[in-house]
Amino acid sequence: MGKALIIGCGGVAGVAAHKCVENSGVFEEICIASRTVEKCDALKSKLDGKSSSKISTAKVDANNVVELIYLIEKFKPDIVMNLALPYHDLKIMEACLQTRTNYLDTANYESEDSAKFEYKQQWAYDEKFKKAGITGILGCGFDPGVSGIFVAYALKHHFDKITTIDILDCNGGDHGYPFATNFNPEINIREITAKGSYFENGKTIETEPMEIKKSYDFPEVGKREMYLLHHEEIESLAKNIPGVKRIRFFMTFGKSYLTHLKCLENVGMTSIKPIDFQGQKIVPLQFLKAVLPDPATLGSRTVGKTNIGCVISGVKDGREKNYYIYNVCDHRECFKEVGSQAVAYTTGVPAMIGAALSIENKWDLKGVRNVEEFNPDPFIDALNKFGLPVSEDFSPVPVD
Ligand code: NDP
Repeated sequence: MGKALIIGCGGVAGVAAHKCVENSGVFEEICIASRTVEKCDALKSKLDGKSSSKISTAKVDANNVVELIYLIEKFKPDIVMNLALPYHDLKIMEACLQTRTNYLDTANYESEDSAKFEYKQQWAYDEKFKKAGITGILGCGFDPGVSGIFVAYALKHHFDKITTIDILDCNGGDHGYPFATNFNPEINIREITAKGSYFENGKTIETEPMEIKKSYDFPEVGKREMYLLHHEEIESLAKNIPGVKRIRFFMTFGKSYLTHLKCLENVGMTSIKPIDFQGQKIVPLQFLKAVLPDPATLGSRTVGKTNIGCVISGVKDGREKNYYIYNVCDHRECFKEVGSQAVAYTTGVPAMIGAALSIENKWDLKGVRNVEEFNPDPFIDALNKFGLPVSEDFSPVPVD
């Protein structure tokens, strides 16, 4: 039926490519393109012959619009799946615009020299994408991604009006290392060491990093401590969910992770400001990334489950109501299936689903869109079909 160009070949892209190949009725052809083509070739050799999907690979610099355009014009995909890093979003969107090709990503644009992300620059492409007759699907991983789909689904089926949204991201997995991150360490640490924020009564309220801590008893994982973070779907949901009063995002962290992170921060290792080191400029956080375990290698040693979902309150038929919608994912099961841990799995599967819905014309709104603007129903069906079953609780404990 269609062709997808996957850019990047890390943990998330590896899962997405596996799932595209599994869904070969939609993905007749994929091209995996990244800066290190050997990684793409290694992934291709794992996937070749698993289904009728035809796989090719290419070398591309996602910072180079000319190279991107050349590759897109050569491969002629129906959609470009940006599974490289958030730094590349604008360059890849520009290449998609110039070639009139649909676009999808899993993380909000941020520039390398400032640890701040917001949708302004990506939303600025909306009119141009509309004029070109193409779709840009923003933030189609789990969170952002499924988190927004869960909210859209809740609004469509369970509420007349949503008042509060708490997005809860719990990783109850254990990889056995004292300190490692479950996705790209540089992006992960930038996110966690930045100031927190939440949306309340039309305003964004900023907090100190990790200032607000709560605990929650997660189904199938148990009680965990979680911290309020700034996260991109707060900005898009505030725009797209009419009348919502409060949106917060919480993520769980273990004690060992937090102790190591504090120590690394205290000694300057999480800084993104370049320093002189033996005659060269290096960025301490990029150096730290180089010495930490590659998240793509954590799969074989990670046990436990993730539980990510939304606790939502609002009104239905004049009565106040609470609702919890979530997915539980087992690290071991993911490894058995695709050779990755659950954090890459829970991001790569939704990326494949968003691309499939675009190729199938089930998600055909033009312009630059966040996932909650599309019909959530076919997405929820596909989550259940492709390994991320959805659970619902109609009388959950609210987050205090
Ligand atoms: P990885 O670091 O494992 O992979 C990134 C890939 O991008 C690598 O293959 C890397 O190449 C490639 N890359 C980096 N720079 C360039 C470049 N200039 N040109 C071409 N390719 C490049 O990251 P993850 O797979 O963990 O994460 C991928 C994305 O998913 C990130 O944007 C992350 O923020 C997002 N994410 C989203 C989540 C969600 O729920 N929405 C959750 C987790 C992650 P090389 O192999 O040579 O280094």
